[in-house]
Amino acid sequence: MAADPTRCTLCRGLLEPGFVADPGHFDARQLPQWEAGEPQKSFRVGLKHSSRQYRMRAFRCTRCGYDMEFARPE
Ligand SMILES: [Zn+2]
Repeated sequence: MAADPTRCTLCRGLLEPGFVADPGHFDARQLPQWEAGEPQKSFRVGLKHSSRQYRMRAFRCTRCGYDMEFARPE
């Protein structure tokens, strides 16, 4: 597995790890996930689930604010 990034690709500032929260239903917060392929609508659940799904991790540059997100197998 690749190591976590430590420097911003734009300005070389330090990155701090974090996450982007999805507010979900009734503020039941969840982590967004990356899904393979094109989105396909579903009558019951909004969008059909893909066969490959990865949770997103985020890193924010402490200098310029640039946000880097990664979707890796856990
Ligand atoms: Zn930066």
